Amino acid sequence: MTHSDVIIIGAGIVGLAHALAAAKRGFKVVVFERSSYAVGASVRNFGMIWPIGQPVGQLRDRALTARAIWKEVAAQANFAIDPCGSLHLAYRPDEMVVLEEFVATTPIEDGSLRLLTAAEVADKSPAAVTNGLLGALWSATEMTVDPREAIRKLPPFLAQTYGVEFHFDTAVTAIEHPKVMAGGKVWTGDRIFVCSGADFETLYPALYATSGMTKVKLQMMRTAPQSNHWRLGPSLCGGLTLTHYASFAHCPSLPTLKTRIETETPHFPKWGIHVMVSQNASGELVIGDSHEYGLTHDPFDRSEINQYILDYLHGFAQAPSFEIAETWHGIYAKLPGKTEWIAHPQAGVTVVNALSGAGMTLSFGLAEEVMEVEPQAGRG
Ligand SMILES: Cc1cc2nc3c(=O)[nH]c(=O)nc-3n(C[C@H](O)[C@H](O)[C@H](O)COP(=O)(O)OP(=O)(O)OC[C@H]3O[C@@H](n4cnc5c(N)ncnc54)[C@H](O)[C@@H]3O)c2cc1C
Repeated sequence: MTHSDVIIIGAGIVGLAHALAAAKRGFKVVVFERSSYAVGASVRNFGMIWPIGQPVGQLRDRALTARAIWKEVAAQANFAIDPCGSLHLAYRPDEMVVLEEFVATTPIEDGSLRLLTAAEVADKSPAAVTNGLLGALWSATEMTVDPREAIRKLPPFLAQTYGVEFHFDTAVTAIEHPKVMAGGKVWTGDRIFVCSGADFETLYPALYATSGMTKVKLQMMRTAPQSNHWRLGPSLCGGLTLTHYASFAHCPSLPTLKTRIETETPHFPKWGIHVMVSQNASGELVIGDSHEYGLTHDPFDRSEINQYILDYLHGFAQAPSFEIAETWHGIYAKLPGKTEWIAHPQAGVTVVNALSGAGMTLSFGLAEEVMEVEPQAGRG
């Protein structure tokens, strides 16, 4: 039987963030991941660190803490990170009104946020369609990573720098604190963190069944690398995104915008579509996404959803090539109405899940908070 201070189940971004937070505090950490490398939501996402989507207060602060940690670990673990910022582009008066209300009511006065005219957008972004553009919200805080690179490079970095021990191809099948059954062996840990993402069936299924948690399926696309080192600049999105992120929820004109979208283009709310585009260090454009809710999802993707996304994208973004090289979907855990789910099914065991569509944005910050409020973790 092998003992450690902290055992973590899952090597997605939530598990990795908790491994870092625990290891930085001097704890001996062991991580179990059932796949040979993480293949869940954490490698299937846009790789956007997106503080602008988080309401001012605890969540934006958490996102900014996470942003600072991303910058540190990217430098140390040697993966690309692009502090490219973001543009929310407005082509309709009701979108522009929401942006104006947002800026007027959002107390961010560090210069990272401002409205741009169409001419100023053209200076900042070679990709934004300026025909019919009324203006945009510029935010400097957004960054992109290639999740495939970052999530692959974090485990060796954590192992080398902090001595975190990783066991891949090792599913955890049962927990009875302090014991963990993993890969047919028994391990023990003072503190156990379950960061198992959209697997509600293996560990604590009864807890999950009563939690109200659901799973969200998102369709995504990626182009081949753009030619001649063309760069997108800031990540781009349009008016649909204003209806998606909680940071815009307080804007008085948002219901009017939502009603117009539902009336004119009901397929967008039907499939939970809002459209964003980012670019990774390889030059590929990452495009998405849709949102379908349920405990079991159709394993097959709908081509009409991808077409809706691309049609909307062409309204606000231009690039040398939008030829799609890959399509896929990802599934994340969500607890409706909540931004995360932290549960204690047994003394010594903490479940951290349901970061929904913001796990890349928030996990490093949330893990710092979890480790601070749970000082009993490790150190016997
Ligand atoms: C398409 C898509 C786009 C997104 N875009 C963004 C974005 O741009 N920005 C952003 O902030 N967020 C984004 N998100 C959300 C973000 O990806 C998720 O919030 C985050 O990845 C969840 O991380 P996780 O560690 O909980 O889950 P996962 O990444 O799924 O990791 C859970 C891991 O646990 C392992 N596991 C499960 N059970 C066991 C077990 N019993 N034993 C051992 N291992 C186990 C799994 O194999 C898996 O590797 C997006 C999500 C999707 C799907």
